[in-house]
Amino acid sequence: MAELHELDLRQAIEGLKQGDFSSRELTAAFLQRIEQLDGALQAFLHVAGEQALTQADQADKQRGENREAPPLLGVPLAVKDVLAVADMPATAGSRILEGFLPSYTATSVQRLLDAGMLVLGKTNTDEFAMGSSTENSAYFTTHNPWDLERVPGGSSGGSAAAVAGGLAPIALGTDTGGSVRQPAALSGVSGLRPTYGRNSRYGLIAFGSSLDCVGVLGRSVADIAILQNVMAGRDPKDASTSDRPVETAVLQKKADLKGLTIGVPNEYFIAGVQPAVEAAVRAAIQALADMGAAVREISLPHTEYALPVYYILAPAEASANLARFDGVRYGLRVKDADVIEMFKRTRGEGFGPEVKRRIMIGTYALSAGYYDTYYGQAQKVRTLIQRDFEAAFEQVDLIAGPTTPTTAFRIGEHSDDPLEMYLQDVFTLPSSLAGIPGISVPVGFDEGGLPIGMQLFAPHFAETKLLQAAHAYQMTTDWHLKRPSV
Ligand code: GLN
Repeated sequence: MAELHELDLRQAIEGLKQGDFSSRELTAAFLQRIEQLDGALQAFLHVAGEQALTQADQADKQRGENREAPPLLGVPLAVKDVLAVADMPATAGSRILEGFLPSYTATSVQRLLDAGMLVLGKTNTDEFAMGSSTENSAYFTTHNPWDLERVPGGSSGGSAAAVAGGLAPIALGTDTGGSVRQPAALSGVSGLRPTYGRNSRYGLIAFGSSLDCVGVLGRSVADIAILQNVMAGRDPKDASTSDRPVETAVLQKKADLKGLTIGVPNEYFIAGVQPAVEAAVRAAIQALADMGAAVREISLPHTEYALPVYYILAPAEASANLARFDGVRYGLRVKDADVIEMFKRTRGEGFGPEVKRRIMIGTYALSAGYYDTYYGQAQKVRTLIQRDFEAAFEQVDLIAGPTTPTTAFRIGEHSDDPLEMYLQDVFTLPSSLAGIPGISVPVGFDEGGLPIGMQLFAPHFAETKLLQAAHAYQMTTDWHLKRPSV
């Protein structure tokens, strides 16, 4: 039998149910992996070993008492450190939240706890989820399990590395402009960004409120679907959640995509895309066609504007959201006799350089004389990007393309050039601005053995169709089963 940390989620659930192993054994196996490997990977900001084992014992007891066991009873989970879990630190990768211990749990996490899961720990992230590599974490950089000298992607890089390295069976991330899908692609795991408003953000430390989504990183699409089915749906504590009924995604048993049309946007195969990435994604699209899907070229003409639009809107929203960190209510407070000085020094010392850059860009874009030129204009172009997708989805069911232009880059390679780093997001930003769901799945490796991801997009709330197609791909290929030798 495979080792416990190698089981996929369905095998773990089944093994616990059958009594092949206990939740304590399963949880201890992951904690041991963390102990052995996290010195090198640095995926976790906080490991909740004792709490997790106590929960595991309770889960075993509950199962033993033969009460109706919740579906995910005793299954461990890793949580990105921008989501609150009661009585565990929540830093968002920032010094300004050092020492903050939330007294409440994010709804997305709570729903999984209610279904029986337990939290192994909090994973590393770029500060306030601003970045594409985890290098902007104020604490340390996470390493890619496929090559320790490279980044795992970001901002949910800790979650991606934890899943890829077998330190957690599955993890939560967040995606504002690509932060679930890009690290999934660079670390060789699967990652879902749901429709905007599908999953609750109560208890999520906000970055860009018109964009932020809670998503899942897992070893397979089937694993992700299990969690997404539990998390989705209206939350009275988050007014931005949709009250549209949740359609439980049931994954088909046969890899058959007959009747489905997949659009391939010209704008996603441009100069600058690494040849190995293009080749692997084209081969994956061919695999979808081999399962019966019709494939046709489409155009999303405003794609090139997504980057400038996002890098006005997201910082503008961030500058407003981050105003609450003033040394009074949460975390760090740099003492000073004068209260205004205290605010200034707390923010000056508590925020890192990328966060400060975004606050300045955002404040500028929102300022009286420039609001129409920047923020107003960006909002208009965002509408054009949304319309591109609406028009495309009149002709096709799903859209496919590369998740990122390149495979994982070296630690330090882009860190002194913010624009180079922002270019990582060219293919994840447009769909984020449109609010539609997207998933990244592994589709191969480059010549250096680094994983490549393909993205699929669906119309608003069509998660089921998206998960089904991505699952069909994984039924006929084994890229997602390959594991790094860490
Ligand atoms: N890399 C993008 C940024 O830096 C997206 C981050 C995210 O989705 N949280 O803003």
